[in-house]
Amino acid sequence: MDYKKSYLIKEIGLWVGLAIAIIFGLTEIEWIAFVGVVIMLGSIFQTCMYYKCPNCNKPFNIRSKKPNYCPECGYKLEDEDV
Ligand SMILES: [Zn+2]
Repeated sequence: MDYKKSYLIKEIGLWVGLAIAIIFGLTEIEWIAFVGVVIMLGSIFQTCMYYKCPNCNKPFNIRSKKPNYCPECGYKLEDEDV
C-alpha cells in the first residue's frame, strides 16, 4: 500500500460510503446505511495509516489535495494519475 493508492481509496470510499449511507438511510434497510458509514470510517482510517511521505513517513494532511512535494522533507512526489 502506498500513499497514492491510499489517497484513491479514501476518495472512492468516502463517496461510495456516503452514497450508500444516504440512499439506504432513506429506506427501511437501515443496516446497509450503517455499512456505508463503516466504509467511510474505514477509508479514513486506512488513510491515516498509509497516506504519508514515502521518504520520511510524515503523514500528509488528509483533508487537503495530494501535495506535489512533501511539506516536511521536500521529497518530490510523483504526480502521475493512478
Ligand atoms: Zn517527507
